[in-house]
Amino acid sequence: MPVYEYKCNKCKADFTYLKLRADDEPLCPGCKSADVTKKMSSFSCSGGGFSGGFGSGFGSGHGGGC
Ligand SMILES: [Zn+2]
Repeated sequence: MPVYEYKCNKCKADFTYLKLRADDEPLCPGCKSADVTKKMSSFSCSGGGFSGGFGSGFGSGHGGGC
């Protein structure tokens, strides 16, 4: 499910957004601003350190809980 994390640049609120279409633009649920930054999704099954080791051993047969 394409749920992405965003951070509002105006009120600094973190929120998640279910993106149904590729051209869907999320609005901050707090201040309704479109000035938001997409954050890297935190995969709950990655076991941490995902952003640092992207590509190193990804899909090479280790773990793979999902
Ligand atoms: Zn906001």
